Amino acid sequence: MRIGIVGAGHAGVEAARYISDNGGEVVLYSDEACLPYIRPRVVQLAFGRVDLDAIALRPKSWYIERKIDLRLECPVTQIDVHAKTVTARCRRERFDALILASGAGPVLLPFVRQFPEDVFPLWRAKDSLAIQNRLASVRHLTVVGGGISGLEAAVYGRERGLEVAVVEKAPYLMSQQFGPIAAGVLARRMADLGVHVDVGRFVADVAKADGRLRLRLDDGTGITSDLVLTTVGAVRDVAVFSQAGLKTGRGVLVDECQRTSEPGVFACGDIAERENVRIGSILLAAEQGKGAAANAVAYLSGRPAEPVADHEVPLSFKHASIEFHAVGAPGGQGLVEKALSVEGEWAYRSVVLEGDVLRGVQMIGSREGFRQLAESLGRPHHGAP
Ligand SMILES: Cc1cc2nc3c(=O)[nH]c(=O)nc-3n(C[C@H](O)[C@H](O)[C@H](O)COP(=O)(O)OP(=O)(O)OC[C@H]3O[C@@H](n4cnc5c(N)ncnc54)[C@H](O)[C@@H]3O)c2cc1C
Repeated sequence: MRIGIVGAGHAGVEAARYISDNGGEVVLYSDEACLPYIRPRVVQLAFGRVDLDAIALRPKSWYIERKIDLRLECPVTQIDVHAKTVTARCRRERFDALILASGAGPVLLPFVRQFPEDVFPLWRAKDSLAIQNRLASVRHLTVVGGGISGLEAAVYGRERGLEVAVVEKAPYLMSQQFGPIAAGVLARRMADLGVHVDVGRFVADVAKADGRLRLRLDDGTGITSDLVLTTVGAVRDVAVFSQAGLKTGRGVLVDECQRTSEPGVFACGDIAERENVRIGSILLAAEQGKGAAANAVAYLSGRPAEPVADHEVPLSFKHASIEFHAVGAPGGQGLVEKALSVEGEWAYRSVVLEGDVLRGVQMIGSREGFRQLAESLGRPHHGAP
């Protein structure tokens, strides 16, 4: 049983682990140069708070002991889903089954390519190392994107003594997780930490003058900055897979067993598009990786496939100066946000209700009762824990 895995991130490494545990032979293709790593920690890496070894998913010895054939700097450029072949670095190899786990990539705003020395997407370890090198000569940092990784970068920037601005196109910060009330508390906390927050604005134009970047926002105001980090969403590159004849949409289409449109080919993690299943979680990517691998092994053994469970995953950031936690749906869009407690200016806890059914939990500056509430999503809510 020989299985090829395209992409060595959270999903791919977990798939490889399952297959090697079950006596299979694995080739794990990565287009990156370093050992597979914990992707959310690229923000800490960018600010020199951790090194590459500290964020590795597994040490090198782990792959060797398990005989997982990890091929670094080996981008897959072609697959043949019928013959089950993979082409990487001009070498074609045949497998019994394939698992696609190539993740997503950053949405690149036009000025990222225009100023490659000064503007970086927060996504890959390679970029984080370049950011680290650049930071010594930075006075002012602009973060484009007010989601969790943007705010994390802003906090670390302030801790380095930088002036920091965050520009967010949505009307409020972390709009995927928080409703307007919770996001307002968060914005005030960021302002208190010295971060200049511009919401409902986007960068219309970037130019460079006297060695510094001049950002012009859509309302005509300007920001002068030395370094710009962008974190404005994810895109999935399905070109190789759609050319191979697989059904694709925004990702590679899969069913609840992570099966693609071609027998013996599975997809998992951010590259997989499954009805009503959100992407963007390391936990779900790893669970799907394991599930896809289990179903690939079952396929080759003539056993039936098992559905891979989906569930809500909380998103949390906890740091000395700020913490926030969210799970489920944000307030707004017809859902009612009900405050559980407001303590001083910074601590805010709320639930999001549809009728009396709990749909979301949002907390800033506190985590009290968060886990209990998160476990009650989808059930009637009749008061605070
Ligand atoms: C800055 C940032 C912060 C985040 N924060 C959080 C968080 O706090 N909590 C959370 O749960 N999730 C977070 N996420 C999302 C999470 O990291 C992803 O959902 C998760 O990494 C998806 O796992 P994956 O294995 O599908 O893809 P990835 O981990 O992205 O791995 C895919 C790998 O495949 C490689 N690859 C792509 N194409 C090819 C090819 N053709 N050949 C070979 N290799 C290829 C890629 O380079 C990559 O190494 C964050 C993401 C980012 C970028």
